[in-house]
Order: sequence, then C-alpha cells, then structure tokens
Amino acid sequence: MHPFTLSRPTDISAAIAACAQDTHLVFIAGGTDLIGLMKDRATLPHRLLDINRLPDMAQIEALSDGGLRIGALARMSDVAANPDVRSRFPVIAESLLFAASGQLRNMATIGGNIMQRTRCAYFRDEDDLPCNKRRPGSGCAARYGLNRNHAIFGWSDDCVATNPSDLAVALAALDANVLMRGPSGQRSIPFTDFHRLPGNTPDRDNVLDRGDLIMAVEVPPRTEGRASHYFKLRDRQSYEFALVSAGAAVAIRSGRIYSARLAMGGVAHKPWRLKAAESALRGLSLDDVDALKAALAASFTDARPLAQNAFKIELAQRVALRALQIAGARI
Ligand SMILES: Cc1cc2nc3c(=O)[nH]c(=O)nc-3n(C[C@H](O)[C@H](O)[C@H](O)COP(=O)(O)OP(=O)(O)OC[C@H]3O[C@@H](n4cnc5c(N)ncnc54)[C@H](O)[C@@H]3O)c2cc1C
Ligand code: SF4
Repeated sequence: MHPFTLSRPTDISAAIAACAQDTHLVFIAGGTDLIGLMKDRATLPHRLLDINRLPDMAQIEALSDGGLRIGALARMSDVAANPDVRSRFPVIAESLLFAASGQLRNMATIGGNIMQRTRCAYFRDEDDLPCNKRRPGSGCAARYGLNRNHAIFGWSDDCVATNPSDLAVALAALDANVLMRGPSGQRSIPFTDFHRLPGNTPDRDNVLDRGDLIMAVEVPPRTEGRASHYFKLRDRQSYEFALVSAGAAVAIRSGRIYSARLAMGGVAHKPWRLKAAESALRGLSLDDVDALKAALAASFTDARPLAQNAFKIELAQRVALRALQIAGARI
C-alpha cells in the first residue's frame, strides 16, 4: 500500500497554488483512473487534492448561441443524460454512453475523462517493463512487442500508445475548447491542441503544466451538431475501450455534403482529425458510397501500421464511413 494524504479545499486559487508548488501532489476528481494508476504503481503521488468541493465546476449549461459549457466536475452519466447535450450534440452523449460502465460513469468526471492515461498494457503493468511513458528513458516495450491495439498515426519510436478517451474524439470533431486556470491565469485551449503526439517526451500526454486545473469544456455552436454520431468498435460489446472509433458530424445542402467533421479514436496518441477526408467529402452525396470511401481514403495515405495492427487501416475507414452515414441519416 502506497501511503498518501488527502486534502479537500473549497477555494480554486488555493487548490491551484498548492498543486503548482508541490511536485508530489495531484488533483483527484472521480478517482476512477487515478486510483487504478496508483494500484498499478504507474503513479505514486504523496498527496491527493480532492477537487470535488471546488465551486461552480459541475454545471452543464446550454448557451444561448447554441453551444454548450460543460463543467469539469460534471459526471459522465449526467452529461450523457442531459437533454441539451443529447439534442444539440448526440455525438457527445453517445461517446459517453459507450464508455466504461454505469457505475464508473456515475463517478467519473469530464475533466478526468480527457486527462485519463493510455491503456497500453506495458504502461499499466506492475512489473515495470520498459515504458518511456511510465519511466522516461527505459524504452518502449510495445514498439516491437504486443502492439495490436496501438497507433497507426503520429507515433514515434519512443511511444506507440493510443489515447483511450471516447469523449475526446467527439470533442475534437466538434473543435471544442478546454478552459483551464493555472498559476498564471485562465486560458482556452483548442481541443485538437490539448493532447500531444509522443515525440521523444511521451510521458507528457497533454499541454497542461503543473497546477493547471481544467474548469470546463466549451463546445461552440455547430450546424453539424445535431446530425452527429459516435461509432465505437471494440473487442467485446460493453465495458471495453475502443479498438477503433469515429466521431462524425455532417451538414447537408441541396442533397450534398456542405460540411463534414470527422475524428478517430484508437489510432493515435491523441484524437485524430481526418482533415483531408473532410475536404474531399465536400460536395458529395451521402448515397454515393464509392465516392465517400475514396474521400475517406485521403486521410489514410500517411498511416504507418505497426507489426500487428495493419488491419486498423481498413477497419478505421469502415468505422468512419459508418459514423458518417449514421450521422447523415439524422438530418
Ligand atoms: C474498467 C474501466 C473501463 C473504462 N472504459 C472506458 C471507455 O470505454 N472509454 C473511456 O473514454 N473511458 C473509459 N474509462 C476511463 C474513465 O472514463 C476514466 O477513468 C474517467 O473518465 C476519469 O475521470 P475521473 O473523474 O474518475 O478522473 P480521476 O481518476 O479522478 O483523474 C484522472 C486524472 O485527471 C486529473 N484530473 C481530474 N480532473 C481534473 C481537472 N479538472 N483538471 C486537471 N486535472 C484533472 C487527475 O489529476 C488525474 O491525473 C474506463 C475506466 C475503467 C476503470
Ligand atoms: S507504447 Fe508508450 S505507453 Fe506503451 S510501452 Fe511504449 S512507451 Fe510505454
């Protein structure tokens, strides 16, 4: 058992200052990822700062312009059940409902979800196998080991892990923003810049610095929001992380795609936007499946499979197509 202390402040500035000054202190929200990491000895903080009593961080607000503001302490199940979330951005509600289990979703928060760490088995392994994310400089056991579930885009020789968050895929597709407060003030981070590629510092998952506290996620109004869908493929039908997933949102004018938004999960160290495909999809009919497939392929020319996951290239394109078709059927 790793000993630690627990504090429960009610003042946001004090919480941020405490974390900024203390390298052995971490925030805890629902605890559903952090406690697992501590049990796996992947992280061993001496002090936990419980953020659940901090004020005004759990609201889910439908903004008058059609957007949403979701507090970092809102629980996954509350967000998934919220009528405004479900009607304005079904892709968000579905990304949450297809994640984890009912009990976990009741406890887990939005901030914790986008901060959760990779499920790479070597990273989570108590035996402390080579893992640059867990122990910088020790190597990457997955690079030439078991890498079926790992990345096909954006990986480096130092880390081939994927980001496990379903919600992050939906938020990336919608170009949401992460609102954070830190020792030097408040800032808004575009969601697609929030998570990092591994490079030679895979121990850093995102751009937050010590003491930075996520306050909320803001989703701007999107014409494509209502016609959106999250499609998740996994090795078993429930209580499982994505092998490959896609968040899609689409707007149609005169029977043709006017705008498409697509992001994928299970393929990279961060949610992976299919920008080239989004451009190629413009002007196509959703009924022209061959043209849709050709457009999606535009985003896969730079895919780099590992020894065990070449199947993901074809699978991911099928998943993206399915997500797009279901989103389009909602218009
Ligand atoms: C068995 C199991 C299955 C799961 N399946 C899925 C799945 O299919 N899909 C999926 O997306 N997720 C899945 N999850 C992950 C789950 O969604 C996350 O554990 C959860 O969302 C984390 O939220 P939390 O509030 O419990 O975070 P915590 O565990 O409390 O914190 C996680 C991390 O976030 C940091 N943190 C928390 N809040 C903030 C904040 N406001 N600002 C800055 N840092 C913060 C903490 O310091 C910590 O580092 C699963 C988890 C388990 C245990
Ligand atoms: S893929 Fe990343 S998380 Fe997995 S063993 Fe390699 S360095 Fe560690």
